[in-house]
Amino acid sequence: MFSQALKEGRKSLLETEAKTVCMDYDIPVTKFKLAKDENEAVKHATDIGYPVVLKIVSPHILHKSDVGGVILGVKNADEVRVGYKQILANVKKRALQAKIVGVLIQEMAPTATEVIVGSIMDPQFGPAIMFGLGGIFVEVLKDVAFRIAPIDADEATEMISEIRAYPLLKGYRNVPPADLEAITEILLNTSRLVTDHPDIKELDLNPIMVYEKGAKTVDARIILE
Ligand code: ADP
Ligand code: MG
Repeated sequence: MFSQALKEGRKSLLETEAKTVCMDYDIPVTKFKLAKDENEAVKHATDIGYPVVLKIVSPHILHKSDVGGVILGVKNADEVRVGYKQILANVKKRALQAKIVGVLIQEMAPTATEVIVGSIMDPQFGPAIMFGLGGIFVEVLKDVAFRIAPIDADEATEMISEIRAYPLLKGYRNVPPADLEAITEILLNTSRLVTDHPDIKELDLNPIMVYEKGAKTVDARIILE
């Protein structure tokens, strides 16, 4: 997957490729299938089961929602057809030069607590693993934990419990606790992945939906050296 991307002059993996790499490392991801036309999109949506999410797949688009490239909660075949056209129209308008690979049809993960697992390559220390809660927690509050890879289970547990938002993961009022073991697993598997592949410059599982039982990565990005 990595050499294929580099051969095509790409530094970033497509979401389909990044999620396939995740699956190889037992990191749970939403079911997905790439559609090249509208009919294929409907067929894939039927196979996966409604509701589905539609996303643009392009080597030139890293932030898909910024260009209208993500449509959530698509409920039936008619909506797939409308959504398919809409995504292509949005992208044509806002990212004219982008080469389009297709439209990704994926399972819609129920809304839950969103967390982020990432890694960056430090020139001195090698890959570092990052953990935080999704959205404003990371972007505005910078409430994140870092460790140099490889990490062990104790370090993964520490990363989860040291962020300020930890009480939100432990559950409060009518919000059930998140599956901390599932997050620990993902942190360990991510550590294994980036340790095995020093050619990964940046990895971003953003977001991961965490449930009472289990977790699911809904977006994955991998940038190569
Ligand atoms: P971007 O490239 O803009 O980061 P994402 O794939 O992360 O695109 O999609 C944007 C947002 O849509 C996500 O942060 C998440 O909240 C939601 N989302 C994306 N995919 C799914 C999915 N399969 N199930 C549920 N929500 C999703
Ligand atoms: Mg994302």
